Amino acid sequence: MNTSRRDFIKAAAIGMAAGPALAGCTGTVAKQDAGRTGNNPIATYKAVLQRSDQRIKSVETFTNGNVSFVRIRTNDGAEGWGQISTYDADISAMIMHRKIAQHAIGKDPADIDAIVDRCIEANYKYPWSFVCRALGGLDTAMWDLLGKREGKAVCELLGGQIRPIRAYGSSMSRSIKPKSEAERLVRLREEKGYRAFKIRIGSVTGHNKDQWPGRTEEIVPTVREAIGDETALLVDGNSCYTAPKAIEVGRLLADNNVCHFEEPCPYWELEWTAKVTKAISVPVAGGEQDNDLAQWRRMIEMRAVDIVQPDILYVGGLTRALRVAAMADRKGMPCVPHSANLAMVTLFSMHMLAAIPNAGDYVEFSIEKTPWAEGLYRPALEVNDGKAGIPEGPGWGVTINPKWLESAQHQISEA
Ligand SMILES: [Mg+2]
Repeated sequence: MNTSRRDFIKAAAIGMAAGPALAGCTGTVAKQDAGRTGNNPIATYKAVLQRSDQRIKSVETFTNGNVSFVRIRTNDGAEGWGQISTYDADISAMIMHRKIAQHAIGKDPADIDAIVDRCIEANYKYPWSFVCRALGGLDTAMWDLLGKREGKAVCELLGGQIRPIRAYGSSMSRSIKPKSEAERLVRLREEKGYRAFKIRIGSVTGHNKDQWPGRTEEIVPTVREAIGDETALLVDGNSCYTAPKAIEVGRLLADNNVCHFEEPCPYWELEWTAKVTKAISVPVAGGEQDNDLAQWRRMIEMRAVDIVQPDILYVGGLTRALRVAAMADRKGMPCVPHSANLAMVTLFSMHMLAAIPNAGDYVEFSIEKTPWAEGLYRPALEVNDGKAGIPEGPGWGVTINPKWLESAQHQISEA
C-alpha cells in the first residue's frame, strides 16, 4: 500500500480526517456526541481554581485487597475521595504515607499542579510505578475536593459536560476460546447495546508466541464475522510481538477491519512500535504503562503510536493524564484512556473524555466479572444502549461504600 493511502485510511480511522467513516469502524471514527469542542481543559481549570486559605490537613488510605481509597481532609472540614491504582494496593498505600502525603499536607489543593510536580521531583531517586500509583490516589482525591469546592463535577471543572460516554466492551481474557468469545460479545451487544469490542491476541510479553498455536488467526475472523461489520473491533497485543511479526499480524487485522491495534510490541521498545505504526494501515494504540511525561513527549513526537492511552492511575493522576492528552492534541492524535477495571479508574476516564477536545470515541469498559471491583461506590457504572452515564453531582459524583471502608485497613498522615 502506498504511503498516502495508508495515512488517509489511518487518519479516517482515528477520526482525524474529514470524510466518510471506514466501514466496520464507524463507532471509532465518529466523534463523541459533543464533537470536537476546542476546549482547553488545563487552561479552563486553571482559570477557575482560585487560591484560598484552605489547607490539606490529612491524607488517609483505606486498603483492602486490590483496592485502596484515599480521603483528604482540609482545615475547613472539606473532604475529597480518590483511589490509588488497583493491584498491590497495600504497597502503593505504604508509598503514599512514606513518600507522597507529606508533600500535600499544609498545601492549598488549588495548587494541584505544583503539588503533583513536587511529589514527582521529591522522589526523583524512586521514579514512576509505585510513586505514580500512590500519587494517582492523592491527585484524584484533590480533584474530588476541588469539584465539591466549586460545586461542579470534575468534567465541568475541565470545561466539559456530564453526559453519557460511549463504551467499548473490553475483554480481559486470553483463556477464552474464539467461539465462546464471539458468542459472549454478540450476547453483550444485544443486552447492553455495545457497538465496539476489544479482544486479546498473542500473549502477554509473549516473544511472538500465541496463547496457543493458531488462536489469534482464529479469533480475529471468528469475532469479526459474529459481531458484524457495523460493530467496531479493537485488539490488544499486550507487548507480544517483534516489529516484523506485528506487521504481519497487522495484515490479518486490516483484512478483518480492525480499527485499533494496542501495544503490539514490548511497550518500552518505542522504535519497534513506531516501525509498526508506520508500516500498517490499522491505527496503533499504546501508552497505558507509561508514566514518565518526558517519555510520553518522545512517544508522541516520534509518533510511536496513532492513539494515546494514558492510564489515569498509572500515570500519577488526572492532572498528569491531561498533560498527555494535551501533548497528543497538539499533534492531532486522539486520546483513549486505559481503564481496565470497574473500580474508579473508568469513572475518572469518563470525566476526562467528557472534557478533552481529542477524546477518542469510547471509554474502555471491562466486561469481566470481578467481584473485588463491585459495590465499591454508588451509583455503580452501567452500560445501557452502548453508553455509560457520568453520575450527577459535584466532584466524581459517587459515594464510597461505608461497609467496604469499615473492612479496610486504615492509615493516616496528618499535620
Ligand atoms: Mg492494553
